[in-house]
Amino acid sequence: MTSYFSRITGRDVEFFEKLLGGKNVSIEEEELVANAVDAYPGGFYKPEIVLWPTSSEEVSEILKYSYEKRIPVYPKGGSTGLTGTVPIYGGVLLSLTKMNKIVNIYEEDMQVTVQPGIIYDRLNKELEKYGLFFPPDPSSGSWCTIGGMVASNSSGLKAVKYGTTREYVLGLEVVLPEGRIIRLGTRTFKYSTGFDLLKMMIGSQGTLGVFTEITLRLRNLPEYYQTALAFFPSVESAVKTVYQIVRRGLDVAAVEFMDEKMMKAVAEYRKIDLPESKAMLLIETHGTRLAASETMEKCIRIFEENNAVDIRVARDAEERERFWAARKGAYPATLRLGKYMLISDIVVPLSKLYDAVQKSYELGEEYGIHSSTIGHFGDGNLHVHWSAGNNKDKIEDLHKANDKLTKWTIEIGGSISGEHGIGTEKKKFVKEQFREAFDLMLKIKKSIDPRCVLSPGVIFDLEEVLS
Ligand SMILES: Cc1cc2nc3c(=O)[nH]c(=O)nc-3n(C[C@H](O)[C@H](O)[C@H](O)COP(=O)(O)OP(=O)(O)OC[C@H]3O[C@@H](n4cnc5c(N)ncnc54)[C@H](O)[C@@H]3O)c2cc1C
Repeated sequence: MTSYFSRITGRDVEFFEKLLGGKNVSIEEEELVANAVDAYPGGFYKPEIVLWPTSSEEVSEILKYSYEKRIPVYPKGGSTGLTGTVPIYGGVLLSLTKMNKIVNIYEEDMQVTVQPGIIYDRLNKELEKYGLFFPPDPSSGSWCTIGGMVASNSSGLKAVKYGTTREYVLGLEVVLPEGRIIRLGTRTFKYSTGFDLLKMMIGSQGTLGVFTEITLRLRNLPEYYQTALAFFPSVESAVKTVYQIVRRGLDVAAVEFMDEKMMKAVAEYRKIDLPESKAMLLIETHGTRLAASETMEKCIRIFEENNAVDIRVARDAEERERFWAARKGAYPATLRLGKYMLISDIVVPLSKLYDAVQKSYELGEEYGIHSSTIGHFGDGNLHVHWSAGNNKDKIEDLHKANDKLTKWTIEIGGSISGEHGIGTEKKKFVKEQFREAFDLMLKIKKSIDPRCVLSPGVIFDLEEVLS
């Protein structure tokens, strides 16, 4: 089936150089190698050429040409994706990183229009000047782009209060696989205008179109924050605390969980002192000084009811930063165990959180691999970090354990992904999760991209799109 696609020729390179200028085209080996991976350890697939367009019209011309010639095109932002959306059929790596401008800030309307390649943290730094922010807050915020976030429906540390990227996208300019430029959505907060094609694009992981302009709604920066760490004698007591906070309707902005093994790894990595305990929660409240403090007091009462062994409330912004640095250090801390690691992204009903953590421990033991857990527990999202250290022979076991956990998640009514997406990694489970609805997804892909030139192999197998 690989022969279905055309290989890049000298004439193609000439065409792209004429369109974009030589400095925005590369066939250099280092560039191809650098773009052969994302943050998922599942495969190394080099593109044949890397292109950096600087306008929607250039993206349109690239897609028109590639569609005609049947050249695969893989859109890319910061390459921090965790599901292997890599160029498995070669072709064009379409880097959006030079389309990184803020087009307009609509301060009164609390909206912003951006090009897709702007980095999340950079956008929020600019918005801060207006007292505004774009809340989803992925841990990878210093490297990931807004285009990548929309394509993955990313979220993260504050989703329990603010929701996911999907809730913030008001408008998209999209270049369709054959090069047509369309606009979806409006600059209004509500509309009732037929099928919601805008929302369909969110989470499509580069398989339906390339986003070249994005309009987001924004929120006011909270007046006041309170951040606390609570340490528990068991995973069960930490999970019970989460459940009670949510069930009592407390307006919390973050409910982050870390188990004992993850705490140890982070404490070593960040050189911080954490008390002996089996689980930790990081809770943050946002609002007016009074509201944020009152909510935190109620949370502290719940920590105590559940026998917390230690409770630390950040005394100032610096301490708050240190708390968050501990939480955000989880990925590099696990990587220090060795380069072979895998991260799950399952979501379960809140009543199954404890079972999910136990299941991951059982599977870690069954396969003789390290497993530790963090998660956005306020919305039931678990990231089990599986590690085989540097033992290449155990890579298979990482995948087997993760696959079993994913299957279990489907059985208990959970989701195979909360924020990372399907990519190439979870393709084998997407049909199982959605059954008949998967056929409908496939029909949509076929009608928008019948030649399957856009991100072939991602979410759908090439053969099923062409059949
Ligand atoms: C350490 C670490 C922590 C992370 N933490 C979180 C977290 O807390 N929450 C979370 O949700 N994710 C997290 N992630 C995953 C990842 O960072 C997010 O999915 C992120 O949004 C990807 O953005 P990116 O710019 O790097 O996209 P890329 O990796 O470049 O691409 C991701 C997908 O988006 C598509 N894409 C990119 N740009 C466009 C575009 N303009 N048009 C159409 N499709 C496009 C690509 O084709 C690909 O399918 C983490 C990753 C790492 C490595």
